[in-house]
Amino acid sequence: MKLETTRAAEAKLLVPTYDRNPLLFERGEGVFLIDEKGDRYLDLLSGIGVNALGYGHKSIEDAIARQSKALIHTSNLYFHTGQAELALRLTEKSGMDRVFFANTGTEAWEGAMKFARAHAGLLREEGRTIGTKFLAMEQSFHGRTYGSVSTTYKAKYREPFGPTLPGVEFVRFNDVADLKAKFSTDVCAILIEAIQGEGGIRPATAEFMQAARELTQATGALLIVDEIQAGVGRTGKFCAYQHYDVQPDITTLAKPLAGGVPLGAILCTEEVARAIHPGMHGTTFGGGPLACAVAIAVLDEIDRSGLMAHATEVGEYFMDALRGLATKHEAIVDVRGKGLMVAAEVNTAELGKTIVRKMLERKILINCTSETVLRFLPPYILSKANVDQAIAALDEILTEDAAQVAAAKSEEKVSG
Ligand SMILES: *Cc1c(COP(=O)(O)O)cnc(C)c1O
Repeated sequence: MKLETTRAAEAKLLVPTYDRNPLLFERGEGVFLIDEKGDRYLDLLSGIGVNALGYGHKSIEDAIARQSKALIHTSNLYFHTGQAELALRLTEKSGMDRVFFANTGTEAWEGAMKFARAHAGLLREEGRTIGTKFLAMEQSFHGRTYGSVSTTYKAKYREPFGPTLPGVEFVRFNDVADLKAKFSTDVCAILIEAIQGEGGIRPATAEFMQAARELTQATGALLIVDEIQAGVGRTGKFCAYQHYDVQPDITTLAKPLAGGVPLGAILCTEEVARAIHPGMHGTTFGGGPLACAVAIAVLDEIDRSGLMAHATEVGEYFMDALRGLATKHEAIVDVRGKGLMVAAEVNTAELGKTIVRKMLERKILINCTSETVLRFLPPYILSKANVDQAIAALDEILTEDAAQVAAAKSEEKVSG
C-alpha cells in the first residue's frame, strides 16, 4: 500500500520533525481532500489556513497554467508586472502604503522585525530616544526561524535552539497593566496577533490593541500585527485588526495569500519604508511572477464571489451551532472566533486528542492546538451543509464520550 511504503521510506529518509496522521492525499475537490483509496475527507483546516479557495479552484489552476507558460521566475534584479499589481490590491485593502514580498510567514515576520530595528535606528540618528527591544505576547506564534522563534512564546519551540535573539520580553496577552509596566523608550516595537492562532484562537481585546497603539505612538515605536493566519479575509475583514479601530505600522501576511502557492508579504507605512534603502533587505524567490499571479487570482476571486461576507455568515452559523453543542455537552467549555477562524475549547487534553482522532475516522479533518482548543480554519468556500456535517459528527462523538465518562463513574462507585 502506498501509505505504508511511503511511511516506511520517510521514517528512514526524513529528519523526523513531523508526527503525521496516517493519511496520504492525492487530489482535492472543493472542500474535500481525496486519499489514495478514493475516500473523501471534509477539510476544516485547509492546509493550516492556506487553501482559502479549497482545492482544484479554476481561477488558481488558470493563473498557474497561464503564468507558468509565460514566466515562472526572474529574480528581483528585473521588473515584472505582478508585484505592483498585487501590491496595489494589498495596500488598498489593508490601509498600508508599501509592500515587500517574501516567500513564507516566518520570512515576512523576520523582515518586519528587521524593519522595526532599522526604523528605530533612523529615529536615533534623528535625535529621538528609542531602543531595540521587542515586546511580544504570551501564547504568541510567529514562526520557526531565529527572529520568529525568539518572539514565539512556547518554550518547546525556542529552548532546544538557544540562545535565541536577545532583547525580547513577553507580555501577558490582553493585560494592559503588564503591557504598560514593560513598555519604555527601550522598546522599538510591540508584536501582536490580533487573533492568536496557534495560541488557541484568542482575540485581543479592544482596550489592549488601543493601549498598544497609544504607547507606541508616543515614543515612535512600531505596532506590528501578525496577520499570517488571520489575514486575507478569513475573519470577514481583510485584516483582523480592521475589527478594531487601530491601524498598525507593519502587518505580515502569508498562509492563504496565494491559495496554496508559497508567498508572504510585509505591508508597512511610508514612515517605516523611510528606513529601508536598496540593498538592505531582499530575497531570491519572494514575489516571483507565478506566486504574484496566483495571489492576484485569489484576491480577485474573494472579491468576485463575496467570500469575506460569506466567511462572516458561515462563521456565525458555525459558532452558533457550536454554542448549541456547548449547551448540550458540558465538555465544551468555550466557543470563540471571528468569521471562519473558529475554536471550541474542551475540558481536557485527552478529549481534544480523542475528538481529532474520531473526526478523522468520520473523514473530517480538524486540529487541536494549545492542548484543549479544537481549531477550525476551513476554506472560505465552506457551506452551511458542510458545517451541519461537522456538527453532527461532533455531537455523536461528545455523546459517546459522555456515556463513557458516566459508565466509568458508576463503575468507580460499584468497586469503591
Ligand atoms: C503560521 C504562522 C507563522 C509562520 O508562517 P510559516 O509560513 O509557517 O513560516 C507566523 N505567524 C502566524 C500567526 C502563523 O500562524
